[in-house]
Amino acid sequence: MLNIGSHVSFGKDQLLGATKEAISYGANTFMFYTGAPTNTVRKDLEEKYINEALKLMEENNIDINHVICHAPYIVNLANREDETKYEFSVDFIRRELARCDELHVKQMVLHPGNAVKITKEQGLINIATAINTILDGTTNCRLLIETMAGKGTECGTTIDEIAFLIDNIVKKDQIGVCIDTCHLSDAGYDLKEFDKYLDEFDEKIGLSYIGCIHVNDSKNPIGSHKDRHANIGKGYIGFDTLLNVIYNERLKDISRILETPYIGETDEAKERLYAPYKYEIEMIKNKKYDENYFEKIRNDAYKK
Ligand code: FE
Ligand code: FE
Ligand code: ZN
Repeated sequence: MLNIGSHVSFGKDQLLGATKEAISYGANTFMFYTGAPTNTVRKDLEEKYINEALKLMEENNIDINHVICHAPYIVNLANREDETKYEFSVDFIRRELARCDELHVKQMVLHPGNAVKITKEQGLINIATAINTILDGTTNCRLLIETMAGKGTECGTTIDEIAFLIDNIVKKDQIGVCIDTCHLSDAGYDLKEFDKYLDEFDEKIGLSYIGCIHVNDSKNPIGSHKDRHANIGKGYIGFDTLLNVIYNERLKDISRILETPYIGETDEAKERLYAPYKYEIEMIKNKKYDENYFEKIRNDAYKK
């Protein structure tokens, strides 16, 4: 079965709101941040919402084992220049994992980090050390390192860098990888030859480590190191190539998560924003691209 969903917001009714939003898109999985992705302010979790969300998931064939949490991306485990900040980051990720346990969520995606003013190698060593400190045996949640586009000083851009991290992490059963199609393409991997990528990944790391796929088109050509997501079929990767990744049988039943931009985000006025996920999921399920889907989404929203 295809597990497809998108990132959704974790609003005032927390996991319950996130579940409802996913269902409204026709998704059978989803990803959320437990607060703003750009800061580390977090509210306490309410048990009532967790229980209601779990019930609603069951009624709608959403398997909690496939639901993904994403750590805020401002946390940087590569740098230890400011030891207080570093310790805060380690402690914060540990607390996020504890929150995942409370939510019954089994996997959390983490951006490895940026090697600011240090070599990439040192950055990677710092990340592995930090993750070894974080994974102290107290959580049931698996940490998924996301493959990055290689923007600026980002670590974890190539298979070799990811392999280095995995090799140096002690708790192998608690670590995995999240591959992101936009990031892979921007990093220089041609997704038209996705099986070649998987061959190399399998040889150097092992396919069983892949726990999630982020499905995004890219606003830039292969190797651009920009990390700007485009809507499905509206970028340089293209619909057919993305479909081949999504339906690749070697990746089994792990979640496919859309992180495509809201429509209208790049409009100058930014007057209205439309979530594209219902239509993008529909096209993926039907394996058929609809050239006019932006117009249909805008029309639909005005009808409401
Ligand atoms: Fe991410
Ligand atoms: Fe991503
Ligand atoms: Zn990205």
